[in-house]
Amino acid sequence: MTDLQSAADKRIIQDKFDDLMRVCKKNIRKSGLEQIEKAFEFANQAHAGVRRKSGEPYIIHPIAVAYITVTEIGLGTKSVLAALLHDIVEDTDYTLEDISRMFGPKVATIVDGLTKLSGSFDSSQAENFKKMLLTLSDDVRVILIKLADRLHNMQTLDSMPRRKQLKIAGETLYMYAPLAHRLGLYSIKTELEDLALKYEHPEAYEKIRLQLHDKEAHRSYLVEEFVAPIQERLKKEKIQCSITSRPKSIYSIWNKMQKKGVSFDEIYDILAVRIVFEPNEEISEKRQSFDILSLITDYYKPKPDRIRDWITMPKANGYESLHVTVMGPRGKWVEVQIRTRRMDEIAEKGFAAHYKYKGAEKQSTDSELDRWLERIRETLQNPESNALEFLDQFKLNLFASEIVVFSPKGHMITLPKGATVLDFAFEIHTELGNKCIGGKINHKLVSPGHEIKTGDQIEIITSDKQRPLQNWLNLVVTAKAKNKIKNAFKLQERQHIDIGKQRLEAEYKKMKIIPHGNTLKKILLHFNLSNKEQLYSQIGMGLIVIDDLPSILKTKTENRFVKYWRLTFNKKKQDEPQKELDKKKTYILEEEDTQYHLAPCCHPIPGDEVVGYITPENSLEIHKTKCPNALKLMSSHGDQIVVAEWTTFKVMSHLTRIKMQGFDRLGVVNELTTIISKQHNINMRSITFDTHDGIFEGTMELYIHNASDLNNLIAKLMKLKGMESVERFDSVDE
Ligand code: MN
Repeated sequence: MTDLQSAADKRIIQDKFDDLMRVCKKNIRKSGLEQIEKAFEFANQAHAGVRRKSGEPYIIHPIAVAYITVTEIGLGTKSVLAALLHDIVEDTDYTLEDISRMFGPKVATIVDGLTKLSGSFDSSQAENFKKMLLTLSDDVRVILIKLADRLHNMQTLDSMPRRKQLKIAGETLYMYAPLAHRLGLYSIKTELEDLALKYEHPEAYEKIRLQLHDKEAHRSYLVEEFVAPIQERLKKEKIQCSITSRPKSIYSIWNKMQKKGVSFDEIYDILAVRIVFEPNEEISEKRQSFDILSLITDYYKPKPDRIRDWITMPKANGYESLHVTVMGPRGKWVEVQIRTRRMDEIAEKGFAAHYKYKGAEKQSTDSELDRWLERIRETLQNPESNALEFLDQFKLNLFASEIVVFSPKGHMITLPKGATVLDFAFEIHTELGNKCIGGKINHKLVSPGHEIKTGDQIEIITSDKQRPLQNWLNLVVTAKAKNKIKNAFKLQERQHIDIGKQRLEAEYKKMKIIPHGNTLKKILLHFNLSNKEQLYSQIGMGLIVIDDLPSILKTKTENRFVKYWRLTFNKKKQDEPQKELDKKKTYILEEEDTQYHLAPCCHPIPGDEVVGYITPENSLEIHKTKCPNALKLMSSHGDQIVVAEWTTFKVMSHLTRIKMQGFDRLGVVNELTTIISKQHNINMRSITFDTHDGIFEGTMELYIHNASDLNNLIAKLMKLKGMESVERFDSVDE
């Protein structure tokens, strides 16, 4: 302890550390305890005199993080050391080398990972999140400790200003809670969600909390009544177990109320009881679990189709359990979860517990969790994607529910829901994907884009002539398949460029032209291309034929600057100092205003519900409220989001697209275009139609003034005979 601390502080600190040591003694090898004491002494003097926003001495935070690391995640000595030291490099004069010297290189690496992740709250959290996931490939402990860090920050969020509370709570719900879930950290996930809700919707949170409190006595009565006969029977059968029942979390109740539009009572009414038993080592855990299930159904009738067996096929996050829903004594459904002590620990503590048991349980050596990690690493290997794209992919692949399919030889393969035959092909082997022309499921031929379902056994059909096609990118959902297709394109592109370059050089030779500085420029200008790679690849693909080189080279080069004067002019205007946009103001979007621009991802048109985003360049970008990018911006750059409203728009037109589908019949296109031309305030830019098997699909690009004009048009089109759907689409990927 140092002189900078008052006696009172020293007492608080020592108490907290004693708590930590108490749990460490139970969970950590003796050899580690001395080191932990040393790390505490070191961190304590390094942070001495510094306080958190709450007023507590700073060292309380690392101690709390270490405590969570042991109790909730079940990590070992090195992690506890890293947790105690996690803010040293960031906040004090000590360096990584100091830590490495004192506690070894492994601890220093983990601290380094945590330091890199810290960043200030203002930096882009998406970028930060990407960094965080990148560390997964180094050491998963970095992320686990980071989650402990986030949990303690959420627990002490009270002392932060409101704006920061909202931002941190938003990030927690968007990124950290799903990540905790994916890593199987059930209790951390639940607490993170509850805390986030507490700050995001304080009133709703408080209301549900009180309702839960009011009903607690009644609930435990119902549980007791339900459990009593089972407990007795299990005792008779000499099965050692504990039966518990936790109320649902506040967040999960709130979430269900939102999603399903039902009342508190309707959700609350469903009881869940958990039976955790000590297995007899001579009989398989699975059999014993089913034995218990069978005992329960002696008393209560099971709901058909509601037996969930996650022991035979564990969830991707490692979760194993046997669930059954039965009819309880008062005509109410009760969910019963049956699992062993080991399964229960994995369900609560996730990752670390999984590895703790891995040695003992041979069957789980190549578990779903390992495969999941493997897939994260694959996703991470795509260096091109920017942070937001990356988040997309990440969410797409890792938070989506999953399906289980089989290869012809019976290999089990897990893929995200929505995966197609192509995804499956690439999952198995790159060449199988590249040459895929379709698949066979239950003796039926299916296309590469066919969505596969759990239980499908899939055989891939290939052809040597096949090459990856551009539209394949729309047919796959896994990052692995996407990356492999893109790589194949790059390879093709590279080949085309090489071929094109050779052809052009051969042409020079043939025409006896010695190329100089201007030669390439003239050719580029002639074909209206902007760089030589484009030229080579188009020649290589045969899109450009260069048979008249001398006459191309004869033409005089125009002054290219003329073409760009507008661009430079516009740029000048932007360079003029603009006044800082006000984040608290509501922006009224006027027709002639130049202060804002419409986001290219969702193409909002006047009348749509929109929000504004103040870009780093201090300009106002207007997104549709439900644009996925806007949602991300709200959670990642919440403080840059402003309220925006339209005035009435009549003068300017905006390009928007609609998609139609219906039954093909003669004259439908004609009728369509008549309707549009009669609507004087809408102009059509393009229309494309495609018919197959008696169904037509079409898209139109239209210039319209505002949303109500568009809605009128859609209503009219819907009245056409055979029309099944008309939708506006402003696809994000285009
Ligand atoms: Mn921290």
